[in-house]
Amino acid sequence: MTSTESNISFFNTLTRGKEVFKPLEEGKVKMYTCGPTVYDYAHIGNFRAFLFEDLLKRWLAYRGFKVTHVMNLTDIDDKTIKGSQKQQIPLKQYTDFYVKAFFEDIKALNIQPADVYPRATEFVPEMVALIKTLMDKGYAYRGEDGSIYYSVCKFPSYGKLSNIKVGELKAGARVSQDEYCKEEAQDFALWKAWTPEDGDVFWETELGKGRPGWHIECSAMSMKYLGETFDIHCGGVDNMFPHHENEIAQSEAATGKKFVNYWLHNEHLLVEGKKMSKRFGNFYTLRDLLAKGYDPIVIRYLLMSTHYRQQFNFTFEGLESAKSAIERLKNFVRRLHEADGKDSVRKVAAFAEKLEVCFGGSLDDDLDIGIALASLFDFVREINSLLDANSVSKQEAADLGGLMMKIDEVLGVIGKVEVEEALPADIDALVKKREEARKAKNWKEADAIRTQLKGLGIVLEDTAQGIRWHKEKA
Ligand SMILES: [Zn+2]
Repeated sequence: MTSTESNISFFNTLTRGKEVFKPLEEGKVKMYTCGPTVYDYAHIGNFRAFLFEDLLKRWLAYRGFKVTHVMNLTDIDDKTIKGSQKQQIPLKQYTDFYVKAFFEDIKALNIQPADVYPRATEFVPEMVALIKTLMDKGYAYRGEDGSIYYSVCKFPSYGKLSNIKVGELKAGARVSQDEYCKEEAQDFALWKAWTPEDGDVFWETELGKGRPGWHIECSAMSMKYLGETFDIHCGGVDNMFPHHENEIAQSEAATGKKFVNYWLHNEHLLVEGKKMSKRFGNFYTLRDLLAKGYDPIVIRYLLMSTHYRQQFNFTFEGLESAKSAIERLKNFVRRLHEADGKDSVRKVAAFAEKLEVCFGGSLDDDLDIGIALASLFDFVREINSLLDANSVSKQEAADLGGLMMKIDEVLGVIGKVEVEEALPADIDALVKKREEARKAKNWKEADAIRTQLKGLGIVLEDTAQGIRWHKEKA
């Protein structure tokens, strides 16, 4: 499929409306997503954003686009410096630890890696060059503290992303920290002159001794890899202001060109109905959940299954439903492997076509994963009834198996389903013994054997085709 045929539309934060997606270059998508600040383990709110971005990328690829994805690693900012000082280790040693942890986490969640992960500390010359351009063009000035600030009033469209009125900003007021709220909107730091609190973290540059501010990092690294104008920029809604607003101001003032065509923001995550906070005892990193024994793919499914623009309420009950949803899909694929019935006379093909239209149509519509998943489970139910009636031929089942694999390229939750494996003789004997007990209506013994098998990691299912089994995932 080429981009001219694309039916994909996104809600663009910049225009506050849904727009048909048209990439700059046909068939290709250039996408930048704000990566983690590597000062701690990433939490499930961070992963909600990374999973939304993974779904977006997988969907674009499904529709035939070649996606170039850049995700930065913020390894220099107020928080990383503070963290390394607290542990009394060099900044690089401190951030390397959390970079490694981040890569382990995204692998566990089956998030497809970005094409490149630029680290901010490796692009300081690019940031310095960008700041110099902004000074030359009159958008930046040096404050009496030696730091360089962006002059917000020089950029008339400042506020267009987050809907801030520049007229309401305090003239000449400055903020030097990386994070601040809308009420504090004012000139922000591009380059922070060295202070004793920075310790040994500084660069000697044409701008003086110091370090870059957080916002300039993303402008410099995104444009370095994707060009002065690119297609999609994503992030959590909490990054819209000031981070993304400042990225636009810096980039567009420097180049005189539009920075990004489509801005996509995912909403907040709540935990058990409340804002996630260490204070409320409901703060979870991915590692906290893995330590409680949860399967990362189940966490993936749950965090991905609500539309990205809706607030998402994470609950442990939700994890249980996610677990059974994945089991349902895996069992379905297993049944397809075993199917060998009579031909459905196009019934199967009609259901498959319907699924492709509904699943595809809903994801094309601003990534409506809720409707896409509902259509998938409708399909599973419909085909399961045909399987119950032994009305799916081997060929039809193989076609459906292929379709499920294609869909899993997008969802990334089914993976390889084990089938056709012979049971070890002792377990096979137990299964047969249980069948005999059932035939004799000795339910107590049958249940006891089922429990015994479960203890051995074998899960039994009584279906219309007889007893089926699968190995429980460790
Ligand atoms: Zn960023």
